[in-house]
Amino acid sequence: MPRPRIERRVKEPPRFQRFKPVGIPARLLEQIPLTLDEFEALRLADYNDLEHEAAANQMEISRPTFTRLIDAARKKVARALVEGKEIFIMGGSVYFRNNIIRCLNCGTIIQTDFENDATIKCPNCGGTEFVNLAQQFGFGKFNRGRRGHGRR
Ligand SMILES: [Zn+2]
Repeated sequence: MPRPRIERRVKEPPRFQRFKPVGIPARLLEQIPLTLDEFEALRLADYNDLEHEAAANQMEISRPTFTRLIDAARKKVARALVEGKEIFIMGGSVYFRNNIIRCLNCGTIIQTDFENDATIKCPNCGGTEFVNLAQQFGFGKFNRGRRGHGRR
């Protein structure tokens, strides 16, 4: 029997899911899927300047695993930039520590935990309708982001 893949810890869902070159219709572009754990590796090491050891600890994975992850992520992003591909963030064996919701009325971004998603009011406009970013990446609100493996 295959061993289940270990879920990697991701701080919160990415704020944006797709990136593409300007001026070329999406249907003409090849998509490069960047997994949520690859995104998190880039965020920790290249955006937050964390050492690989510290970043690996945050994701609850080994340092060699982290190194493989960040290498794969950098290759994909470089290829997208050089060759003009669309980056589509999806999938990966992860769970989110926190969620992010975006107010449908004013666009304010709010960090939440999964328990309180349903009861929150926008601090900016008082709105009560939100885009649930964890849900966008295939995670439901009743399972604290642990359902499935980030796939739809
Ligand atoms: Zn609002």
